Amino acid sequence: MLQDYQLLRIPGPTPIPPSVQQVMLAPMIGHRDQETKALLNRIQPKLKNIFGTLQDIAVIAGSGTAGLESAVVNTVNPGEDVLVLVTGSFGDRFARICKTYQLTVHRFDYDWGTALEPEQIKAYLSQNPSIKAIFATYCETSTGVLNPIRELAQVVKQVSDALFIVDGVSCVGAVETRMDDWGIDVLVTGSQKALMLPPGLTFVAANKRAWKKIEESKQARFFLDLRKYRDSSQQDSTPFTPALSLLYGLEQSLTLIESEGFPAVFQRHQVMKNMTRASMRALGIPLLTNDLVASPTVTALKPYDFQPDLLRKIVKKDFGLVLAGGQNQLKGKIFRIGHMGYCSPADVIQVISCIEIGMYKLGKKTSLGIGTKAAQDVYLNHIEGD
Ligand SMILES: *Cc1c(COP(=O)(O)O)cnc(C)c1O
Repeated sequence: MLQDYQLLRIPGPTPIPPSVQQVMLAPMIGHRDQETKALLNRIQPKLKNIFGTLQDIAVIAGSGTAGLESAVVNTVNPGEDVLVLVTGSFGDRFARICKTYQLTVHRFDYDWGTALEPEQIKAYLSQNPSIKAIFATYCETSTGVLNPIRELAQVVKQVSDALFIVDGVSCVGAVETRMDDWGIDVLVTGSQKALMLPPGLTFVAANKRAWKKIEESKQARFFLDLRKYRDSSQQDSTPFTPALSLLYGLEQSLTLIESEGFPAVFQRHQVMKNMTRASMRALGIPLLTNDLVASPTVTALKPYDFQPDLLRKIVKKDFGLVLAGGQNQLKGKIFRIGHMGYCSPADVIQVISCIEIGMYKLGKKTSLGIGTKAAQDVYLNHIEGD
């Protein structure tokens, strides 16, 4: 196979746009110099637009999990009751972080592939006033579910004073997110998913309610202390050496998102989701999630008549196409197609076409062209609807 050729279609890390790749090659600058301050100052308003907030956003060097951990260690005291909503492996991670910091974890587990249910959570909260924080995952990457965060925020506010804390790592930047309007108290995302950057940055925003708690919290923290990031941010700075190359890239990727325009970005992800789902249906590969809760950024498939890992192996070998497998209880049972960030309908058609060849090689000789046509039809219908 052609060396270096790769089609990376996993739900993060995602491919990087050439202009972003290019700016990340720029030489280092003094991290306390005016250039860095100016860069951080230009980045803040762009990030706020992505989050839908007026609050400053902490830019932390670390993977998304550092962002999740910072959300935990800043907002809750040891021993306090928290509710963690688990719809897959990332919800489970939030719960494990909470346990690590000796919080009293109340856990709601949903079948993997289904979404959380706001009314049920509302009922639980009204009977459990001791809950101080609720942790939820916006897009559950392990299953491809987009949880109804907006609806949940609404019911949480009706019955509880608990902080509402959301992991938006695999969808913020690709789906509508209005932190302030919806009433999300703390929102976390990361660089390597919809924001089209390499791994290594995580972003955390907290509103006034959350800040009150952050100020008072007795939990020990140093590197992840959000107060340090806020104080530095007021001087257009960071408490520790920032990941400068990633910041160069961040400014460019946020500029790309802005120039495409948010509605167009969200619409593109919707189209790619619908193309992917229609093609998999046409090919007879069962979708793990139903249409109402399917994420625009990642699609999970659960074949019953072939091994997903075998298909992944074939398309990797033949085309350099990298698809994701399942995590934890879904390991070996599903495969996942990432379609977020630097990804277009043209990429989706290519991926489907490659999967058809993979299926042909697995013995499904009737597959050729069927899924691709379904995706093309979806694409054309969207265009005509414009
Ligand atoms: C990718 C991801 C994370 C962060 O994972 P890291 O490997 O630490 O970057 C957190 N939450 C969700 C939902 C994710 O998809």
